[in-house]
Order: sequence, then C-alpha cells, then structure tokens
Amino acid sequence: MPDSAKTQCPYCGVGCGLEVLPPAQPGKMINRDEDGTPIWQARGDKAHPSSHGMVCVKGATITEVLHKGRLTHPMVRDSLDQPFRKVSWDEALGLIVDRIQQVVRTMGADGLSMYGSGQFQTEDYYVAQKLMKGCLGTNNFDANSRLCMSSAVSAYAQSFGADGPPSCYEDLDLTDCAFLIGSNTAECHPILFNRLVRHKKKNKDVKIVVIDPRRTATAEAADLHLAIKPGTDIELLHGIGSLLLRWGKLDRDFINQHTDGFDEYVEVLRHYNPHQVADRCGITIAELTTAATYWAESGSVLSMWSMGVNQSSEGTAKARSIINLHLMTKQLGKLGAGPFSLTGQPNAMGGREAGGLSHLLPGYRFVTNPGHRAQVERFWGLPDGRISDRPGRTAWGIVEDLEQGNLGLLWVAATNPVVSFPDLERTKAALKQSPFTIYQECYNPTEMVEYAHVLLPAAQWSEKTGVMTNSERRVTLCPQFRTPAGESRADWAIFAEVGRRLGFGREFSFNSPAEVYAEFVRLTAGQPCDQAGMSHEWLGSQGPTQWPFTVPKCDLSDRKTNWLGKPRVVEGFDPKASSRLYTDYKFYTPNGRAQFLACHSKGLAELPDDRYPFVLTTGRLYEHWHTMSRTGRIPKLAKKYDNPFIEVHPRDAEQLRIADGEWIEVRSKRGKARFVVKVTRGICPGATFVPMHWGALWAEQSEANALTHAECCPISKQPELKACAVQLLPIRNGKVQEPMGFESTFPSFATVVS
Ligand code: SF4
Repeated sequence: MPDSAKTQCPYCGVGCGLEVLPPAQPGKMINRDEDGTPIWQARGDKAHPSSHGMVCVKGATITEVLHKGRLTHPMVRDSLDQPFRKVSWDEALGLIVDRIQQVVRTMGADGLSMYGSGQFQTEDYYVAQKLMKGCLGTNNFDANSRLCMSSAVSAYAQSFGADGPPSCYEDLDLTDCAFLIGSNTAECHPILFNRLVRHKKKNKDVKIVVIDPRRTATAEAADLHLAIKPGTDIELLHGIGSLLLRWGKLDRDFINQHTDGFDEYVEVLRHYNPHQVADRCGITIAELTTAATYWAESGSVLSMWSMGVNQSSEGTAKARSIINLHLMTKQLGKLGAGPFSLTGQPNAMGGREAGGLSHLLPGYRFVTNPGHRAQVERFWGLPDGRISDRPGRTAWGIVEDLEQGNLGLLWVAATNPVVSFPDLERTKAALKQSPFTIYQECYNPTEMVEYAHVLLPAAQWSEKTGVMTNSERRVTLCPQFRTPAGESRADWAIFAEVGRRLGFGREFSFNSPAEVYAEFVRLTAGQPCDQAGMSHEWLGSQGPTQWPFTVPKCDLSDRKTNWLGKPRVVEGFDPKASSRLYTDYKFYTPNGRAQFLACHSKGLAELPDDRYPFVLTTGRLYEHWHTMSRTGRIPKLAKKYDNPFIEVHPRDAEQLRIADGEWIEVRSKRGKARFVVKVTRGICPGATFVPMHWGALWAEQSEANALTHAECCPISKQPELKACAVQLLPIRNGKVQEPMGFESTFPSFATVVS
C-alpha cells in the first residue's frame, strides 16, 4: 500500500481532488475515528485542477466510514424469508452463472437485468455493460444515473448531437451572469457554489439568478431569486426567451450559420406573453424582466442546472429550453458561458462515456444506431447482430417488468433502489416478486439487503483502482490505497469472472483495471468523449485530464514531469485545450448544426387537487449523501439532523394548526410518511419540501419516495422525483387527524399562488 495517494472524492459530481494520508504520520498522533480505530486522513489536494485544495465536509470525512458496516463475505439464501448463509466466492459465482444460463435458456437474455451506479468507476461500468450488451446480448444494463442525469444526456444529444457538458469550472471564475436553475448548489455542489460566490465578491457587477421554489442557501446569495411554482420552469425559460426576442437580443449570424429550428422555436415563444408567464410562474413581471435583462446585458452567461430540471416528466424539454436560450444568444463555446449540467454522482459522467445506460454503448454511441452497434461488435470480436437494436430496460422498467413476470434475474450493484426509486411501496412489492436478485454492495445492512437472494461483497473506492470523470469532463485516477474489507472484490473483477465462467474467456482476459481502461479508451478514439490519449499511467503521472484528449501516448519514463507539484512539459499536451466544447461551433449532429427545440410547457405530471392540495418537492442536504449508506454511519454528519423534516410555509402551518417541531403525516395517492415540521418562509405557500436521504434503516416511516410517483420524461425515461401532490395531516395526541377536518376548506396550491 502507498504512503499517501491522490484521488477524487467519491461523493458528488464536482469531483474534488483529495490527498489521503495513512493513520500514522511522523511526529503526529495516530489518526483515529471516534471509536479509536486508526483511519486514513483526507484533505483537499491543492494540485487538483478542478478544486484547488477545496473540499466540503463529506469529502473531508470520507475516511471515517470506509471500515464501518461492511459486507465482507458472499452470502446466499433460497428465499427472502430465510436467513443468509455464508458461502465461498466459488459457490456464489457458480450459482449466479447457473441462474444466468437457466434464464437465458427459458426466457431469453432479456429475462436478465442489471442496475448499476454512478458510484462505479469507469472500469466497473465498462466490464458490466460488455458482459450484458455484448456477450449476453441484452441491453438491460441501466444505472442510477437514470434517476439523476438522463434528461441532461438526452437534451445534449438532441441539441448538439452528443452528450457532454460544454463548459468547465473555470467558467465560474469568468462569467458575468450565472443562472442556477433547479439546483441548490450551496448544499449539493458546495465547492462550485463557493467558487462562484468568491468570483462575485471580487467582481461586484457579476449577477447570480436562482430559479427554485425554495429560498435555499443558494437563493440567499442571489441577486435575483425567482421562486417559481413547481413545474413552471419551461414557462419561465420561454418567458425570458420571449423578452429577448422582443428586444432583438439575438445573434442572427450565429443562428443562421450554426443552428436549425429557430423559426419553430420563435413560433412557440409567441405563445408566452411575459405578463401571463409571470402570473403562471407565481412571480412578478418585474422579476421576469430583470432576469431577462441580466441575460441580455451580460457578456457571458452560464446556466447551471441539476435535479430540479432533470427529475421531471418533461426533463429533456426543460434542459433543451435552457440550451435554446444559449443558442439564441450565442452564449456557448466561449469563456464564462454555456449550458452546464451539474452531475449528481462522482462518476455518472464516466458511466455515460462507458455505455452505462440502457440505450447507450461505449464512446457516446447508441444501441439504436446500426453503425455504432457494428463498430462495437467488431471491436469486441462478436458476431454481427449480437448487440440488440432495442434500448434495454430502464430503472423504472425493472419494476414494471418484475410486476409482469418478465424478469428472471436482477443484479443490483452499488445502489439502493429501496430508498431512491419513486413509489416505494410499489417498488418494494415488485422486488419481493423477483425470482432471483443479486445485490453487490460494500455496506451491510442497507435497505436493499432485505430484497436479495445473493449478497456479493464489493471493494469500494480506496480498495480498488479505477478512474472517474467529473462534471467538467475531467478524468482522475483513483488508486487503491487500502486493503479490501474481508473477501470483497472490485466490481469489474466480479463481472469479468462471471463472464469467464459463462465461456467468454477471451473477452474478459483482463489482468488489471489498467488493462480494462486501456481497452475502453480505444473505443472512444474519434468519438466526442475521446480519451484515447489517456491511460492509468498517463493519469497517474500527469494528473487529472479533461477529454477530448487524443494526444498520442507519450514517453512517461521521465517521472520528473509529474502531477506531484512539478510542471507539465509533455510535448504536444496543452492542459487547457479541452476546457470547452464547441468553440468552433461545429456540433455532432449529422449536418453539424445545433438544434433548437420547440416545445410547450406541460407542467407537473400530478397536479394538486382538493384531496391532495400541496406540492411536495424533494431534495438533498449538505451533510448527507443519497441514501446515507456512508454519511449515516459518520456521527459528526448524522448528528446534524435527529429526524427528517418537512418545510411548510407559515400561512399553511397556521391554517393546518401545526407548529414548528410537531410531527405530521404526509400522504399521497401512493403512500405515507411522517416528518417533523419546520415552519419557514423559505418555501412558497402551497408547496412543501422533504429531504430524500432517509430510508427505513435510518428513520421510521420517513421515506420521501413513499410519496413520489414514477411518471417519467418520455425521452429520457427519468422519473419526476421532484414533485407530487400530497396532503398534510396533523397528529394530535398520537392520532392522525383525518382529511375531513380541512379538505373542504383548504385552498389548493393552484388557487393559492395564482
Ligand atoms: S463538493 Fe462533492 S466532490 Fe467535492 S468534497 Fe464535497 S462531496 Fe466531495
């Protein structure tokens, strides 16, 4: 094991650089956790070009949880009501291989499904989808990025012809005006938020506009907070577009030379009268006009968005409506400007590059494109037609197909759908019907363990080597620096071993993750996400590198030119060359032109009504990560919140006669949960907010997703986890006050805010 290591934080998509040091340092006390166990130390890596030494509390405390609550041995059971028994890897893998062969024989390969994770390293993704899509011939490999970023993926692909955020973090230091749309950046991407705020402090004219129904910590820092009604994002974006059009604030030359579809877009904008838009969004015309003025008068405009845009039944259309504004005003391909999706997970970007969604193949290829399938089949040495031309089962499709008996084997890895999926009661019921579920995970217990027949212990970040790509397309090598817990193995190694046992010895003859990555990058050569110049060796010696990166491999034997503080002098390598995409305004569409999308706003999939008069919106907190498998086990993070809470506006609290600190029951058409009330003017009347982190393991009956629904964006198939209609029921003397007490008199959300 090394004396120290440089790596990337394994939590969010900011992808901050970490430097980790062993527990014993010369002249210092041994570093220990609160139980006295010696642990590694993590600190910001000043040399990492994405974060310059900055880390948030999650990155700084990551080493406190690496050894806790680990799954250490393979375990199996015949049915969900039996206890697990410990088995050898040989027995577990033999069972899995037998079962895969049986399902393929009886149901065909589409009877299999794998559901992976943005916590995977790129090597894990690559081997998993090669096994499923290439060798087994089913595209049923999806990942939790489907719940997180797939609307951004679809929007980029439709507008520009390829996925990939065009901007970079340096744009935060250069922009004149930042729009933060559906993103509580201060809590969810804190290091980027701090960077933007620092830029604004130094440059008083810089504007920050936040679009969010909640007055979040992010909104507090804004020049303008547009607290729009949930589901009115497209209205607002079209309202801004309509004003820019009226004012003639367009770039006609750029539109004519480099885009298609502008006339259709203008036709749509004509339906968005600014006064009516402001009214429908629940803001004033002055606020709308100010936002449009900031856009019109800024030399560079940067739009950053995350789940508030993506997790929507019209997520792709929302993201494309942002991109439309950038195309209309030529706000991309230059310093400080561009549409910029902020990725949720540390390597959701790497997953997109490696084909880690059920409609993708490695190198930003699509399963529906015959040329792309043929390229990948040839590369993998597979017979023509082996890769299916049908997009595979998406995240929610797994639930639907379990209900219909179409699934013979489900393999879930590094994710916790029993907390993160929508409509949890339906999700749990479907998982109970699964004939055979493999769960590959680092931690035990998690909520998902209860639904597994086989548990496979996975080595986690720190215990395996691989790469991750952050939101600005920067790839960082994350080396192993600790011994894997118990018998745990790297995810890619588990998938490769199953592949070999299924008879694909040649396809999975990898001896190391470096060999896996070397094969993957060859598939990216000439593609938009070209990493052909990268290798573990390159990244280890030259440091984190942005794609596209096609520089031929250089002689790296001169280790004086390394990442550890020495200057980069590799001939032909300009570290800034890939900072921004589309600087030449050549796009990846067939005719090389970017595409406007003309779409009307549809609003929320589930509107409030008399019975369910509130809109519930869900989100994340600074201290916690996803379903708390890690952060719930770190006392200094867990202690911040005793219980999950619900934000309620004072006017609503008064009408319901509920006070701050009281418990209430929240019900939707699908389920119910209980939360402590937090009365705050930070949420608009008629709306409520609940954090999504808590599952059954961490609090009783407090799952936000017990309430949410599974209506998906028809293009990205991303569920609308951000909004559903609910009722709020006070609990008095331990008894829930049934709806009759207020339902006839309480005004619905639509009435209240219009
Ligand atoms: S901002 Fe994200 S990547 Fe950076 S330290 Fe925090 S959790 Fe890790």
